[in-house]
Amino acid sequence: MPALAVKNLHVAYGSIAALHGISLDVQKGETVALIGANGAGKSTTLRAISGLLPVSSGDVLWEGRSIANLAPDRIVAAGIAHCPEERHVWPHMTVAENIALGAYLCRSKEEVQRRTGMAFHRFPRLRERAHQLAGTLSGGEQQMLAIARALMSEPRLLMLDEPSLGLSPKMAEEVFEVVRSINVHGVTVLLVEQNIHNALSVANRAYVVETGRIVASRLSGELRNDPELLRAYLGG
Ligand code: ATP
Repeated sequence: MPALAVKNLHVAYGSIAALHGISLDVQKGETVALIGANGAGKSTTLRAISGLLPVSSGDVLWEGRSIANLAPDRIVAAGIAHCPEERHVWPHMTVAENIALGAYLCRSKEEVQRRTGMAFHRFPRLRERAHQLAGTLSGGEQQMLAIARALMSEPRLLMLDEPSLGLSPKMAEEVFEVVRSINVHGVTVLLVEQNIHNALSVANRAYVVETGRIVASRLSGELRNDPELLRAYLGG
């Protein structure tokens, strides 16, 4: 049984259909990438999985149970964290306060402290800046903060939307190193990424999304070695 199974997912923004039957699987422990052009429906897929958009039809099975149209906080509680494209760190709150927000479902103060300690262990640069306002961080640091905050719910599936967007190549590489390390520590990852090279270097497999449909599903190695295929689907 896959950890996550998306089955024939249809999602619309009002009367405008955005997803026309997306189906994909993610096995426990995998890193899977969704790639495709702007507007293909990658972010919409993540938003529907995390309950931020209603599912019109089809299903989302997480660890064998349907989570379609559950409230977002219930989906977080079930073990799925979503790090959205816009990052949404709270600029006028400190780094430490932003991190603590990620554990909003956790009632125990000691547990929040334990998880915060782990976050600072994983992201030493955030520890150094714990009392700094998040708005003063660099783009890369804000991305790290968004990931650290998402990990505070101790997810078994982490969904990342364009984590390298707007970052320098060096900073993007650091972010992907963090993603690899999170995955090695047992978290399954579903990643949306415009940067095909980075996506294929971190993911085991990739789905190509085009106008609300999956048009190809390949091992990353196959896609990397098949420029024709990449060109066909992604235009170069
Ligand atoms: P991008 O990288 O540009 O975000 P994407 O593959 O993630 O691309 P989506 O953002 O999922 O694509 O968009 C899928 C479709 O849904 C597009 O046609 C887009 O115009 C539309 N769409 C996205 N967000 C909204 C919205 N808030 N309201 C209306 N339509 C939207």
